Amino acid sequence: MDVQSAVYGIIGYPVAHSLSPLMHNAAFKELGVDAVYKLFPLKENELDGFFAQLREPSSPIFGLNVTVPYKERVIKYLGNITPLAQKIMAVNTIVITKERKLIGYNTDAPAFLSHLVELKFNTRDKKIAILGSGGAARAILAILCMIPERPDSIKIYNRTPERLDILLEDLRTRIDISIVEPVRSIDDLDIPGADLLINTTSVGLKPGDPGLVDEELLHRKLLVYDLVYNPPLTPLLKMAQKRGAHVANGLSMLYYQGVLAFQHWANVQLDDDVKLKMRQALEKGASQSVRK
Ligand code: NAP
Repeated sequence: MDVQSAVYGIIGYPVAHSLSPLMHNAAFKELGVDAVYKLFPLKENELDGFFAQLREPSSPIFGLNVTVPYKERVIKYLGNITPLAQKIMAVNTIVITKERKLIGYNTDAPAFLSHLVELKFNTRDKKIAILGSGGAARAILAILCMIPERPDSIKIYNRTPERLDILLEDLRTRIDISIVEPVRSIDDLDIPGADLLINTTSVGLKPGDPGLVDEELLHRKLLVYDLVYNPPLTPLLKMAQKRGAHVANGLSMLYYQGVLAFQHWANVQLDDDVKLKMRQALEKGASQSVRK
């Protein structure tokens, strides 16, 4: 693996809260690789300059993660993006080759699926309800429509309906989204009839955030998946637990996307012991930064 003295990192704004450095620096340490993963908080007007420098032969940066709000905006700087990233139209991982070519990947979507597999949740013929229409919803909705284990239906609600309409209009040009039904109220998500409820909004991150749905709608046959992982039990997940539903937060999704990103950068499959160190570093970091 050729990552000697190389720099990796995450771009976004803000990024100070990111747990990714813990995970990737743990992997570098375990592998004995002289490389470091850094935070790159970038304002919008700094993006052009950052990407211009990235293409310089002297740049030490060989891999990046991309987070809010740049997952779509970075695409214009990339020489190539994978077919999956092209379908989703969002990039959260960038590989920079020795020739300074920039290649964009989406590892969020396969990471979400990997976590569903870990949870032994098969999406085939299931009824799915989604809250939110931002970048995370884009990746999850797209991949759920593309997999062979096709759900029966996906109902999706967003506080700002216009944003949901724009998302669906865009995805429809590249993906068969005929199983997707946008709804205009949370009641119309039919949570009592659903198998999986996914919160892709950022609600739950801040102390005092609401649970988003009425507690009585949650039930024992439901898996409630919250992409928020800090706090580990969001108000939504607390309600779901009370109602006997299965619950999962987004920490494992973060882990899986990190493993995939690392493997793209290094062009190797990571051994289980390295992955374990990454997971442990992430879990330790998450438990230390818990917001109550
Ligand atoms: P985003 O593009 O900024 O979208 C935010 C979404 O949250 C929008 O649908 C927005 O609705 C909704 N929202 C925000 N405040 C709301 C409120 N008060 N009430 C109702 N809806 C509200 O962000 P994103 O990239 O999709 O990320 C969303 C969350 O997922 C973040 O917490 C992020 O950390 C998390 N995430 C986790 C992982 C993981 O690996 N676990 C990966 C990606 C993202 P409007 O359109 O109405 O504003």
